[in-house]
Amino acid sequence: MDRLTALPHAYKLARRDARSTRTVVQLPNGAGFGGDVVAICAGPCSVESREQIEATAQAVARRGANVLRGGAFKPRTSPYAFQGMGRDALKLLRDAADRFGMAVVTEVLDPRDVELVAKYADMLQIGARNMQNFSLLREVGEAGKPVLLKRGLSATIEEWLMAAEYLLVAGNNEIVLCERGVRSFDNATRNLLDIAAVPLLKSLSHLPVIVDPSHGTGVAKLVAPMALAAVAAGADGLLIEVHPDPPTAASDGPQSLTFEQFDALMGQVDTVARALGRRVPAAVAA
Ligand code: PEP
Ligand code: MN
Repeated sequence: MDRLTALPHAYKLARRDARSTRTVVQLPNGAGFGGDVVAICAGPCSVESREQIEATAQAVARRGANVLRGGAFKPRTSPYAFQGMGRDALKLLRDAADRFGMAVVTEVLDPRDVELVAKYADMLQIGARNMQNFSLLREVGEAGKPVLLKRGLSATIEEWLMAAEYLLVAGNNEIVLCERGVRSFDNATRNLLDIAAVPLLKSLSHLPVIVDPSHGTGVAKLVAPMALAAVAAGADGLLIEVHPDPPTAASDGPQSLTFEQFDALMGQVDTVARALGRRVPAAVAA
């Protein structure tokens, strides 16, 4: 650990001793990252229709999710795959979140879209593929909105903290780090979810850390055990993909939970969180 903080160009603003207290990132609906309540971000991989996003928002809010996720601009490996509904999806997300008392997190892919996405979202997501897109980091750093900074596909902890440093230097202090797995030699899972990154980052940095077991494993049945492991390891939140009918999802169906699976998981997450003096958010009446 000292090895990382001793590097000549080490992250100066992200490091743990740059602040007297840990950063708590607060969203307008009261959702918080870094306090006693574990933030629950849930929703589909992609926004597909008003019905889909509203049904999902209702189902997850009922079980305590306080941040609605959903891709509007999708970073797809193939240019022929579904690219997202764009601006229309932003409006649908906002409406659905407002109806159920949730905040909105969604990815911004292009520096030219930062203003547009910031108009609808409460938190801007920088995806794994863009963690080192330095012009995007600079632009998002100046957007005046909290940021969910995902770990790059093959990023080291130091590279990731340096990406956060770009946002901090630009004047944005409201950063949440999201572990979502890294490339490994083994394709038995989509990625290798680095749970040790959670306590490691918390010792190196004052920034809150959440875990995305959906992209981290790529396999729906592995999402619940990894979500529980993340909370046990001290994660400040979870990001979970949920879809009304995963087999028909436009993207990431194999890793998406059904509403029933999400319900069951939330009860378990609360049990683990309480064992550590934390809890999941109180459900809104929906
Ligand atoms: C996502 O959360 O929708 C996503 C594309 O994730 P990642 O950038 O981690 O692959
Ligand atoms: Mn996805």
